[in-house]
Amino acid sequence: MSELGKTCALCGGTLVAGTTTFTVDFGAGVVVVRHAPAETCDQCGESWVDDATAAKLECLVVEAKAESKQFEVVDMAA
Ligand SMILES: [Zn+2]
Repeated sequence: MSELGKTCALCGGTLVAGTTTFTVDFGAGVVVVRHAPAETCDQCGESWVDDATAAKLECLVVEAKAESKQFEVVDMAA
């Protein structure tokens, strides 16, 4: 499978590289991550992140939990 021919696992649409905003609700609070690198499906709008980005998102949630933050906004482009 070539790098350019990525398709959405949900609907088979074409994935377009860009950024997206993720909102993670972990119960005690919410983490909003803006400009996270992702590939977004041009048909259903589902966003897919690579493992490195997923790990970063996970890490941000762990930090917010540890600091008992109820609302945290992180801009990955900053
Ligand atoms: Zn799709």
